[in-house]
Amino acid sequence: MFESAVGDRSTPTLARLAEAGEYRRAVTTFPSLTPVCLTSIATGAHPDVHHIPHLVWWNRQEQRIVEYGSSFGAVRAAGARRSLRDTVVGMNRDHLSKDAETVYEAAERAGLTPAAVNITCYRGAHRYLPTVPGLAPATFGPRRFFFYNLYESDPIGAPLAIRDRSGGSVDEYAAAAGRWLVTRDGFDLLVYYLSDLDFASHLHGPDGVRDQLVKTDGTVGALVDAAGGFDDFLERYAVLVCSDHAQTHVHRAVRLQDHVREPAIVTASNRAGMIYTDEPRIAAASLDEVEGVDAVFFLEDGAVVARRYGDEDAALLDEYPLGRERVTAALRNPNAGEVLVSAADGWEFADLGGMHHAGGGSHGSLTAGDSEVPMLGIGIDPPARTIDVKDAMLASLLSPLP
Ligand SMILES: [Zn+2]
Repeated sequence: MFESAVGDRSTPTLARLAEAGEYRRAVTTFPSLTPVCLTSIATGAHPDVHHIPHLVWWNRQEQRIVEYGSSFGAVRAAGARRSLRDTVVGMNRDHLSKDAETVYEAAERAGLTPAAVNITCYRGAHRYLPTVPGLAPATFGPRRFFFYNLYESDPIGAPLAIRDRSGGSVDEYAAAAGRWLVTRDGFDLLVYYLSDLDFASHLHGPDGVRDQLVKTDGTVGALVDAAGGFDDFLERYAVLVCSDHAQTHVHRAVRLQDHVREPAIVTASNRAGMIYTDEPRIAAASLDEVEGVDAVFFLEDGAVVARRYGDEDAALLDEYPLGRERVTAALRNPNAGEVLVSAADGWEFADLGGMHHAGGGSHGSLTAGDSEVPMLGIGIDPPARTIDVKDAMLASLLSPLP
Protein backbone atom coordinates (compact mmCIF):
# COMPACT_ATOMS: atom_id res chain seq x y z
CA MET A 1 0.00 0.00 0.00
CA PHE A 2 2.84 2.39 0.87
CA GLU A 3 4.67 1.60 -2.36
CA SER A 4 1.60 1.97 -4.56
CA ALA A 5 0.45 5.20 -2.89
CA VAL A 6 3.92 6.73 -3.22
CA GLY A 7 4.11 5.43 -6.78
CA ASP A 8 0.94 7.17 -7.96
CA ARG A 9 1.53 10.18 -5.68
CA SER A 10 -1.83 9.85 -3.91
CA THR A 11 0.15 10.59 -0.73
CA PRO A 12 1.97 13.82 -1.67
CA THR A 13 4.08 14.21 1.48
CA LEU A 14 5.36 10.63 1.48
CA ALA A 15 5.95 10.84 -2.29
CA ARG A 16 8.13 13.93 -1.89
CA LEU A 17 10.01 12.36 1.01
CA ALA A 18 10.58 9.25 -1.11
CA GLU A 19 11.99 11.39 -3.94
CA ALA A 20 14.43 12.97 -1.53
CA GLY A 21 15.51 9.73 0.11
CA GLU A 22 16.20 6.07 -0.26
CA TYR A 23 13.64 3.29 0.09
CA ARG A 24 13.80 -0.39 0.95
CA ARG A 25 11.71 -3.04 2.67
CA ALA A 26 12.82 -3.93 6.18
CA VAL A 27 11.95 -6.77 8.56
CA THR A 28 10.32 -6.33 11.95
CA THR A 29 10.52 -8.62 14.98
CA PHE A 30 8.37 -11.62 15.97
CA PRO A 31 5.60 -11.83 17.08
CA SER A 32 4.81 -8.96 14.69
CA LEU A 33 2.41 -7.30 17.14
CA THR A 34 2.45 -3.63 18.13
CA PRO A 35 3.69 -3.77 21.76
CA VAL A 36 6.52 -6.11 20.74
CA CYS A 37 7.38 -4.23 17.53
CA LEU A 38 7.31 -0.71 18.97
CA THR A 39 9.45 -1.85 21.90
CA SER A 40 11.92 -3.34 19.41
CA ILE A 41 12.10 -0.03 17.53
CA ALA A 42 12.56 1.97 20.74
CA THR A 43 15.15 -0.35 22.30
CA GLY A 44 16.94 -1.56 19.16
CA ALA A 45 16.52 -5.14 20.26
CA HIS A 46 14.44 -8.29 19.85
CA PRO A 47 12.23 -9.60 22.71
CA ASP A 48 15.05 -11.70 24.24
CA VAL A 49 16.50 -8.35 25.35
CA HIS A 50 13.43 -6.17 25.95
CA HIS A 51 11.14 -8.91 27.37
CA ILE A 52 7.80 -7.73 25.88
CA PRO A 53 6.45 -10.99 24.39
CA HIS A 54 3.01 -10.40 22.87
CA LEU A 55 -0.23 -8.41 23.10
CA VAL A 56 -1.39 -10.92 25.71
CA TRP A 57 0.84 -13.07 27.94
CA TRP A 58 1.04 -15.01 31.19
CA ASN A 59 2.96 -13.23 33.94
CA ARG A 60 4.68 -16.08 35.79
CA GLN A 61 5.70 -13.97 38.80
CA GLU A 62 2.23 -12.59 39.38
CA GLN A 63 0.39 -15.68 38.09
CA ARG A 64 -1.97 -13.67 35.91
CA ILE A 65 -2.75 -12.69 32.33
CA VAL A 66 -1.36 -9.39 31.03
CA GLU A 67 -3.51 -7.97 28.22
CA TYR A 68 -2.37 -4.83 26.35
CA GLY A 69 -5.65 -4.31 24.51
CA SER A 70 -6.24 -7.00 21.86
CA SER A 71 -9.89 -5.97 21.68
CA PHE A 72 -12.61 -4.48 23.86
CA GLY A 73 -13.83 -8.01 24.66
CA ALA A 74 -10.35 -9.21 25.60
CA VAL A 75 -9.77 -6.19 27.80
CA ARG A 76 -13.08 -6.80 29.57
CA ALA A 77 -12.19 -10.49 30.06
CA ALA A 78 -8.80 -9.58 31.56
CA GLY A 79 -10.23 -6.72 33.66
CA ALA A 80 -10.52 -3.30 32.05
CA ARG A 81 -8.85 -1.28 34.78
CA ARG A 82 -5.94 -3.66 35.06
CA SER A 83 -5.49 -3.78 31.26
CA LEU A 84 -5.38 -0.01 31.06
CA ARG A 85 -2.71 0.09 33.77
CA ASP A 86 -0.69 -2.69 32.16
CA THR A 87 -0.82 -0.97 28.77
CA VAL A 88 -0.20 2.59 29.82
CA VAL A 89 2.23 2.19 32.70
CA GLY A 90 3.01 -1.45 33.57
CA MET A 91 4.59 -2.24 30.21
CA ASN A 92 7.17 0.53 30.59
CA ARG A 93 7.66 0.41 34.34
CA ASP A 94 7.45 -3.32 35.15
CA HIS A 95 7.58 -5.48 32.03
CA LEU A 96 10.20 -3.73 29.89
CA SER A 97 13.59 -5.13 30.90
CA LYS A 98 15.84 -2.85 32.94
CA ASP A 99 18.73 -4.19 30.86
CA ALA A 100 17.26 -2.76 27.66
CA GLU A 101 17.94 0.91 26.96
CA THR A 102 15.37 2.99 25.11
CA VAL A 103 16.42 5.43 22.42
CA TYR A 104 15.21 8.23 24.73
CA GLU A 105 17.38 7.04 27.62
CA ALA A 106 20.39 6.72 25.31
CA ALA A 107 19.77 10.19 23.86
CA GLU A 108 19.47 11.85 27.26
CA ARG A 109 22.60 10.08 28.46
CA ALA A 110 24.36 11.74 25.52
CA GLY A 111 23.00 15.17 26.45
CA LEU A 112 20.33 15.29 23.73
CA THR A 113 16.64 16.21 24.06
CA PRO A 114 14.45 13.25 23.01
CA ALA A 115 10.72 13.50 22.28
CA ALA A 116 8.03 10.82 21.99
CA VAL A 117 4.51 11.21 20.66
CA ASN A 118 1.96 8.42 21.32
CA ILE A 119 4.43 5.53 21.08
CA THR A 120 3.62 2.85 23.67
CA CYS A 121 7.29 2.22 24.52
CA TYR A 122 8.38 5.51 26.01
CA ARG A 123 10.50 4.86 29.13
CA GLY A 124 12.66 7.87 29.97
CA ALA A 125 14.20 9.80 32.83
CA HIS A 126 11.40 12.24 33.70
CA ARG A 127 8.46 11.62 36.01
CA TYR A 128 4.98 12.57 34.77
CA LEU A 129 1.61 12.70 36.46
CA PRO A 130 -1.51 12.10 34.32
CA THR A 131 -3.30 15.20 33.00
CA VAL A 132 -6.51 13.81 34.53
CA PRO A 133 -5.69 13.23 38.22
CA GLY A 134 -6.25 9.65 39.36
CA LEU A 135 -6.86 8.21 35.89
CA ALA A 136 -3.44 6.53 35.81
CA PRO A 137 -0.35 6.36 38.04
CA ALA A 138 2.73 8.53 37.55
CA THR A 139 5.09 7.31 34.85
CA PHE A 140 8.60 8.01 33.49
CA GLY A 141 9.00 9.36 29.96
CA PRO A 142 11.43 11.39 27.86
CA ARG A 143 12.10 15.12 28.27
CA ARG A 144 9.38 15.93 25.69
CA PHE A 145 6.54 13.50 26.08
CA PHE A 146 3.01 13.43 24.67
CA PHE A 147 0.94 10.32 25.22
CA TYR A 148 -2.70 10.48 24.03
CA ASN A 149 -2.87 13.64 26.18
CA LEU A 150 -2.92 11.41 29.24
CA TYR A 151 0.65 12.53 29.90
CA GLU A 152 2.12 15.77 28.56
CA SER A 153 5.50 17.28 29.28
CA ASP A 154 4.23 20.64 28.04
CA PRO A 155 0.69 22.03 27.86
CA ILE A 156 -0.24 22.19 24.16
CA GLY A 157 -3.98 22.68 24.51
CA ALA A 158 -5.00 19.82 22.19
CA PRO A 159 -8.41 18.18 22.77
CA LEU A 160 -8.83 14.72 24.25
CA ALA A 161 -7.47 12.06 21.92
CA ILE A 162 -9.27 8.92 23.05
CA ARG A 163 -12.85 10.06 22.46
CA ASP A 164 -13.37 9.17 18.79
CA ARG A 165 -10.95 6.40 17.82
CA SER A 166 -12.39 5.58 14.40
CA GLY A 167 -12.74 9.28 13.55
CA GLY A 168 -8.97 9.67 13.47
CA SER A 169 -8.71 11.67 16.69
CA VAL A 170 -5.60 9.82 17.88
CA ASP A 171 -3.46 10.93 14.94
CA GLU A 172 -4.98 14.41 15.16
CA TYR A 173 -3.61 14.61 18.68
CA ALA A 174 -0.22 13.36 17.44
CA ALA A 175 -0.25 16.10 14.78
CA ALA A 176 -1.01 18.75 17.40
CA ALA A 177 1.92 17.57 19.52
CA GLY A 178 4.18 17.23 16.46
CA ARG A 179 3.32 20.74 15.25
CA TRP A 180 4.06 22.14 18.69
CA LEU A 181 7.45 20.40 18.81
CA VAL A 182 8.58 21.29 15.30
CA THR A 183 7.42 24.91 15.57
CA ARG A 184 9.73 25.32 18.58
CA ASP A 185 12.41 22.97 17.25
CA GLY A 186 11.92 21.49 20.72
CA PHE A 187 13.87 18.24 20.35
CA ASP A 188 16.99 16.61 18.96
CA LEU A 189 15.27 13.32 18.27
CA LEU A 190 11.54 12.69 17.82
CA VAL A 191 9.61 9.42 17.65
CA TYR A 192 6.23 10.22 16.10
CA TYR A 193 3.83 7.29 16.13
CA LEU A 194 0.67 7.30 13.99
CA SER A 195 -1.66 4.41 14.76
CA ASP A 196 -4.88 5.25 12.92
CA LEU A 197 -3.71 3.37 9.80
CA ASP A 198 -3.36 0.12 11.75
CA PHE A 199 -6.83 0.61 13.21
CA ALA A 200 -8.37 1.18 9.75
CA SER A 201 -6.50 -1.79 8.26
CA HIS A 202 -7.84 -4.19 10.91
CA LEU A 203 -11.33 -3.00 9.99
CA HIS A 204 -11.17 -2.76 6.20
CA GLY A 205 -8.23 -5.02 5.34
CA PRO A 206 -4.82 -3.87 4.12
CA ASP A 207 -6.12 -3.01 0.62
CA GLY A 208 -8.93 -0.88 1.99
CA VAL A 209 -6.89 1.84 3.68
CA ARG A 210 -6.00 4.20 0.85
CA ASP A 211 -8.23 6.96 2.25
CA GLN A 212 -6.72 6.54 5.70
CA LEU A 213 -3.20 6.54 4.25
CA VAL A 214 -3.96 9.89 2.59
CA LYS A 215 -5.01 11.21 6.03
CA THR A 216 -1.87 9.74 7.60
CA ASP A 217 0.14 11.45 4.88
CA GLY A 218 -1.44 14.73 5.98
CA THR A 219 -0.39 14.00 9.56
CA VAL A 220 3.22 13.65 8.39
CA GLY A 221 2.69 16.80 6.32
CA ALA A 222 1.75 18.66 9.51
CA LEU A 223 5.40 18.35 10.61
CA VAL A 224 6.66 19.56 7.23
CA ASP A 225 4.34 22.58 7.32
CA ALA A 226 5.36 23.42 10.88
CA ALA A 227 8.99 23.57 9.74
CA GLY A 228 8.07 26.02 6.96
CA GLY A 229 7.95 23.59 4.01
CA PHE A 230 9.99 20.73 2.57
CA ASP A 231 13.30 22.49 2.09
CA ASP A 232 13.40 23.85 5.62
CA PHE A 233 12.15 20.55 7.05
CA LEU A 234 14.85 18.47 5.36
CA GLU A 235 17.52 21.03 6.08
CA ARG A 236 16.73 20.75 9.76
CA TYR A 237 16.05 17.03 10.13
CA ALA A 238 17.14 13.62 8.93
CA VAL A 239 14.05 11.40 8.69
CA LEU A 240 13.20 7.71 8.87
CA VAL A 241 9.67 6.71 7.86
CA CYS A 242 8.72 3.15 8.72
CA SER A 243 6.02 0.90 10.05
CA ASP A 244 6.27 -1.29 13.15
CA HIS A 245 4.63 -4.21 11.29
CA ALA A 246 2.53 -4.91 8.20
CA GLN A 247 -0.90 -6.52 7.80
CA THR A 248 -2.46 -9.32 5.75
CA HIS A 249 -6.07 -10.23 4.99
CA VAL A 250 -7.79 -12.63 7.38
CA HIS A 251 -10.90 -14.63 6.58
CA ARG A 252 -11.22 -17.20 9.35
CA ALA A 253 -10.40 -17.55 13.03
CA VAL A 254 -9.61 -20.47 15.32
CA ARG A 255 -9.51 -20.73 19.11
CA LEU A 256 -6.19 -22.34 20.05
CA GLN A 257 -7.47 -22.79 23.61
CA ASP A 258 -9.88 -25.46 22.38
CA HIS A 259 -7.02 -27.66 21.20
CA VAL A 260 -4.47 -27.47 24.01
CA ARG A 261 -5.01 -29.47 27.18
CA GLU A 262 -4.78 -27.87 30.64
CA PRO A 263 -2.84 -27.10 32.75
CA ALA A 264 -1.07 -25.52 29.75
CA ILE A 265 -2.05 -21.86 29.36
CA VAL A 266 -2.72 -20.43 25.91
CA THR A 267 -2.44 -16.71 25.17
CA ALA A 268 -3.38 -15.81 21.62
CA SER A 269 -4.42 -12.76 19.64
CA ASN A 270 -4.28 -11.65 16.03
CA ARG A 271 -1.90 -13.99 14.14
CA ALA A 272 0.37 -15.26 16.92
CA GLY A 273 -0.13 -17.50 19.92
CA MET A 274 1.90 -18.77 22.86
CA ILE A 275 1.57 -21.79 25.12
CA TYR A 276 2.92 -21.79 28.69
CA THR A 277 3.61 -25.39 29.60
CA ASP A 278 6.06 -27.77 31.28
CA GLU A 279 5.74 -30.07 28.26
CA PRO A 280 6.36 -28.01 25.13
CA ARG A 281 6.67 -30.98 22.78
CA ILE A 282 3.28 -32.38 23.83
CA ALA A 283 1.62 -28.96 23.66
CA ALA A 284 3.14 -28.31 20.22
CA ALA A 285 1.96 -31.71 18.95
CA SER A 286 -1.61 -30.96 20.06
CA LEU A 287 -1.76 -28.34 17.26
CA ASP A 288 -0.53 -30.69 14.50
CA GLU A 289 -3.98 -31.12 12.97
CA VAL A 290 -5.35 -27.67 13.68
CA GLU A 291 -6.36 -25.74 10.58
CA GLY A 292 -5.07 -22.17 10.72
CA VAL A 293 -1.75 -23.07 12.38
CA ASP A 294 1.19 -22.58 10.03
CA ALA A 295 4.03 -23.62 12.34
CA VAL A 296 4.94 -24.03 16.00
CA PHE A 297 8.30 -23.45 17.66
CA PHE A 298 9.87 -24.45 20.97
CA LEU A 299 13.29 -24.92 22.53
CA GLU A 300 14.73 -28.35 23.29
CA ASP A 301 18.21 -28.56 24.85
CA GLY A 302 18.68 -24.92 23.88
CA ALA A 303 17.99 -25.50 20.17
CA VAL A 304 14.92 -24.27 18.25
CA VAL A 305 12.52 -27.00 17.12
CA ALA A 306 10.28 -25.95 14.20
CA ARG A 307 7.21 -28.10 13.61
CA ARG A 308 4.51 -28.06 10.91
CA TYR A 309 1.72 -30.67 10.69
CA GLY A 310 3.82 -32.98 12.87
CA ASP A 311 6.98 -32.71 10.75
CA GLU A 312 10.04 -31.24 12.41
CA ASP A 313 12.58 -29.52 10.23
CA ALA A 314 14.79 -26.60 11.23
CA ALA A 315 14.93 -25.60 7.53
CA LEU A 316 11.35 -24.37 8.01
CA LEU A 317 12.80 -21.32 9.74
CA ASP A 318 14.43 -20.19 6.51
CA GLU A 319 11.02 -19.84 4.81
CA TYR A 320 10.46 -16.63 6.76
CA PRO A 321 12.33 -13.31 6.66
CA LEU A 322 15.11 -13.60 9.26
CA GLY A 323 13.21 -16.62 10.59
CA ARG A 324 16.02 -18.16 12.65
CA GLU A 325 17.05 -14.90 14.29
CA ARG A 326 13.51 -13.82 15.12
CA VAL A 327 12.19 -17.16 16.40
CA THR A 328 15.27 -17.77 18.56
CA ALA A 329 15.01 -14.30 20.11
CA ALA A 330 11.26 -14.66 20.70
CA LEU A 331 11.69 -18.02 22.46
CA ARG A 332 14.56 -16.72 24.61
CA ASN A 333 12.34 -14.03 26.09
CA PRO A 334 11.72 -15.01 29.74
CA ASN A 335 8.14 -13.71 29.51
CA ALA A 336 7.25 -15.75 26.41
CA GLY A 337 5.43 -19.07 26.40
CA GLU A 338 7.45 -22.23 25.90
CA VAL A 339 5.69 -22.77 22.56
CA LEU A 340 5.16 -20.06 19.94
CA VAL A 341 2.51 -20.41 17.26
CA SER A 342 2.45 -18.60 13.91
CA ALA A 343 -0.83 -18.44 11.95
CA ALA A 344 -1.36 -19.67 8.39
CA ASP A 345 -2.22 -17.17 5.63
CA GLY A 346 -5.76 -15.88 5.99
CA TRP A 347 -6.17 -17.10 9.58
CA GLU A 348 -6.35 -15.43 12.94
CA PHE A 349 -6.33 -16.74 16.52
CA ALA A 350 -9.33 -15.59 18.59
CA ASP A 351 -8.37 -13.59 21.68
CA LEU A 352 -9.49 -13.88 25.34
CA GLY A 353 -12.84 -12.31 24.51
CA GLY A 354 -13.31 -14.54 21.43
CA MET A 355 -12.75 -11.51 19.18
CA HIS A 356 -10.95 -11.52 15.84
CA HIS A 357 -10.74 -9.45 12.63
CA ALA A 358 -12.00 -12.04 10.08
CA GLY A 359 -13.09 -10.10 7.00
CA GLY A 360 -10.48 -7.43 7.72
CA GLY A 361 -6.73 -7.34 8.33
CA SER A 362 -4.36 -8.65 10.97
CA HIS A 363 -0.72 -9.36 11.78
CA GLY A 364 1.52 -11.16 14.25
CA SER A 365 2.88 -14.08 12.26
CA LEU A 366 6.37 -14.80 10.95
CA THR A 367 5.30 -14.58 7.31
CA ALA A 368 6.66 -11.90 4.99
CA GLY A 369 3.16 -10.41 4.61
CA ASP A 370 3.00 -9.51 8.30
CA SER A 371 6.73 -8.92 8.82
CA GLU A 372 8.02 -6.83 5.91
CA VAL A 373 7.61 -3.09 6.39
CA PRO A 374 8.36 0.02 4.35
CA MET A 375 11.58 1.78 5.40
CA LEU A 376 12.34 5.17 3.91
CA GLY A 377 15.42 7.16 4.88
CA ILE A 378 16.07 10.81 4.08
CA GLY A 379 19.52 11.81 5.26
CA ILE A 380 19.87 8.39 6.95
CA ASP A 381 20.55 5.06 5.24
CA PRO A 382 17.34 3.04 5.67
CA PRO A 383 18.18 0.03 7.87
CA ALA A 384 17.28 -3.57 6.92
CA ARG A 385 15.65 -4.38 10.27
CA THR A 386 13.42 -2.27 12.51
CA ILE A 387 15.71 -3.13 15.45
CA ASP A 388 18.39 -1.08 13.68
CA VAL A 389 16.30 2.10 13.69
CA LYS A 390 17.47 3.16 17.15
CA ASP A 391 21.17 3.07 16.27
CA ALA A 392 20.54 4.66 12.87
CA MET A 393 18.84 7.61 14.59
CA LEU A 394 21.51 7.97 17.27
CA ALA A 395 24.33 7.60 14.75
CA SER A 396 22.99 10.48 12.71
CA LEU A 397 23.29 12.69 15.81
CA LEU A 398 26.27 11.26 17.63
CA SER A 399 29.61 9.77 16.92
CA PRO A 400 30.73 7.51 18.41
CA LEU A 401 27.45 5.87 19.50
CA PRO A 402 26.75 5.95 23.25
ZN1 LIG B 1 -2.66 -3.93 14.73
